[in-house]
Amino acid sequence: MKTETIGFVGLGRMGRPMASNLCRKGFDLVVHDVNPQAVDSLTALGARAANGVAGVAQASSVVVTMLPSSVEVEGVVLGPDGVFANAREGLLLMDMSTVDPHTTDEMHAAAVAAGMSVVDAPVGRLSTHADRGECLFMVGASDADFARVLPLLQAMGTTIHHCGKVGTGIRTKLVNNCVAVASCQLNAEALALSQKFGLDLTKTLEVLYGTSATNGQLRLNWPNKVLAGDTTPGFTIDLAHKDLSLIIAAANAAKVPMPVSAAAREAYSMARARNYSGCDFSTMVDVLCEMAGIEPPRLPKGWSSSSG
Ligand code: NAD
Repeated sequence: MKTETIGFVGLGRMGRPMASNLCRKGFDLVVHDVNPQAVDSLTALGARAANGVAGVAQASSVVVTMLPSSVEVEGVVLGPDGVFANAREGLLLMDMSTVDPHTTDEMHAAAVAAGMSVVDAPVGRLSTHADRGECLFMVGASDADFARVLPLLQAMGTTIHHCGKVGTGIRTKLVNNCVAVASCQLNAEALALSQKFGLDLTKTLEVLYGTSATNGQLRLNWPNKVLAGDTTPGFTIDLAHKDLSLIIAAANAAKVPMPVSAAAREAYSMARARNYSGCDFSTMVDVLCEMAGIEPPRLPKGWSSSSG
């Protein structure tokens, strides 16, 4: 794999650390992002800047995409100046974005027709895990393509699940995010209520951490993000809203009712309407507190769950 040139398109909150880890581990990287500063951060590590998406595709035998949503992925991969229009036969496209499964299926069909291949490998865990090269990947791929991308995944993460054929990775991701993103809204409601009751935040968390109410968002993410006063993303409310929309659309198409997820999605819609789009998704609790006219919950400096 280290003899292949790897193209990387999308150097945002996730793509930047993931591409950086590939660079640091000796992969030959050609990169592109519409934001030139993002490209600069990678060239500083030894990656080459490509002349647009076409330049990435022409220079690479494997192209990784880490873009916001289906719209950007379809444009970059299937567009007239996109990856497939400019790639050689044998190219492997690994899309790691969270997209509509139909986008993955469409790219797979186009790739097969052109003698190329697609792997879907969306990412689990937080952006801080991406910084440390500790991502979890859900991979949909043929056995041969899985073997081809495995060294790349090992350089960016610590936990790799081969879920099955192409398309199973992204579907597993939607199932995962149904729980992860909807539970964030439930945490927000519970902590807003706790504030209104005038309860001690640290004591409330200690109780929730010790019962079946425990969940990863509340224990791992929130104390370092919104409860510490840090509302920078992480994972934006906009992206969380997008994921719940994908989940509900896929469920509706399959005639699976999702009443709680649909309500949670509309809570994220309210946050977007109040200009919280670019905040970390843990900031959902601040949105509810603002609506209820109460102070947002904040932990004392230096608090950790073990200190309680
Ligand atoms: P982001 O918005 O920070 O990054 C997206 C990057 O893509 C930006 O740098 C943007 O400039 C670039 N971009 C957009 N359109 C482009 C185009 N046409 N050509 C080239 N570059 C383009 O988003 P992110 O948080 O890095 O998330 C990326 C994907 O990963 C999303 O699908 C998201 O749902 C998923 N994800 C995010 C997290 C997280 O914690 N942030 C975790 C797991 C999965």
